Amino acid sequence: MTQEITRATFDEVMVPNYAPSAIIPVRGEGSRVWDKEDKEYIDFAGGIAVTALGHSNPTLVDVMREQAGKIWHLSNVMTNEPALRLAKKLTEKTFADRVFFANSGAEANEAAFKLARRYAYDHFGPEKHEIVAFYKSFHGRTLFTVSVGGQAKYKEGFEPTPAGIKHCDYNNIEQLKAIISDKTCAVVMEPILGEGGIIPADLEFAKQVRELCDQNNALLVFDEVQSGVGRTGTLFAYEQTGVTPDIMTSAKSLGNGFPVGAMLATDAVAKSFTFGTHGSTYGGNPMACAIAEAVVDIIDTPEVLEGVKKRHDLFVAGLNAIDQKYHVFKEIRGMGLLIGAEVVDQYAGNAGKFLAAAAEEGLFVLVAGPDVLRFAPSLIIPEQDIAEGLARLEKAIATVVEQTQAA
Ligand SMILES: *Cc1c(COP(=O)(O)O)cnc(C)c1O
Repeated sequence: MTQEITRATFDEVMVPNYAPSAIIPVRGEGSRVWDKEDKEYIDFAGGIAVTALGHSNPTLVDVMREQAGKIWHLSNVMTNEPALRLAKKLTEKTFADRVFFANSGAEANEAAFKLARRYAYDHFGPEKHEIVAFYKSFHGRTLFTVSVGGQAKYKEGFEPTPAGIKHCDYNNIEQLKAIISDKTCAVVMEPILGEGGIIPADLEFAKQVRELCDQNNALLVFDEVQSGVGRTGTLFAYEQTGVTPDIMTSAKSLGNGFPVGAMLATDAVAKSFTFGTHGSTYGGNPMACAIAEAVVDIIDTPEVLEGVKKRHDLFVAGLNAIDQKYHVFKEIRGMGLLIGAEVVDQYAGNAGKFLAAAAEEGLFVLVAGPDVLRFAPSLIIPEQDIAEGLARLEKAIATVVEQTQAA
């Protein structure tokens, strides 16, 4: 017997760590999604910057079907063709020489932080173990990654957290200078803060972070879980910062929704993950890697990457036009199709109201903290879907503004 699933089912059977909306999406095509009642939505969220090639992408569906008919899973004691093909592509296309596969962003970061510690341990000894990261940054939800992440609320009640982690303000080089030392094994940063409010790194800051790392024999780790795989208009965002990290992580868009993560590193650093030092049962799963290879093939083309820049301009122009009428945004910022619109003080803390009103109008958007509306759509979202989505957003904003004025 099949049971009827409703929003109430969540409250019966799920751990209450999420608070999902009542919408039950059941199918998607490109940048449109339909719920159980067949209401249509335009997707400016991409499942939190994940479905970079849209829903049910026909090429990816074919690749997945083909791989599913061949082999789903191999253990890491076997040579795995799809994983090695993907690793070859990723190393050819980036600074990195070596890849470790994981199943998520947090796991890729966990591997990165462990590798940074191990490398310092091997080359400089156990004293050099401190990790420096930034307030507001987000690196995942495992105990190590919430500890490196810069948001206290994600650590609360889970202490004791791993020791040897320090934080300072993003884009503030003086603070970093004050805490980095010869005990620092790595500086960890997102080239653009995602969850922390869509704040790009200043180029001068990024350059000086790299210099400070070099002066202190510390590795530079870039978390590109959100910013990577075409999201910012280049395959990885570091290409636009003018600095090259030693370790980089990827996930989210890499699998377009199929779970996969990757940690990439230079040869010299990767050497410290010697046989048996780290591992994962599913990491590098043939299904995940076959799909991710197709994702990278499609995204790393001039059409798609140029298209991201064009779509960025359409979004920014559309958001500015809305703002001219309603004066709700303090700042519109971001890179490529990772765009944030910070609300004016009157709506501070209430970005979620706009998200809820947008859903009513048939539009998925995201927030990045309480004050910022975030847009992370498919990189190939049709221009007419952008126009239609912005029209729905304008209606939603008009409603929130009216309600606020009436209150
Ligand atoms: C989403 C995200 C993560 C965590 O990825 P999961 O797949 O949820 O573990 C880590 N870092 C950044 C920058 C992210 O945006």
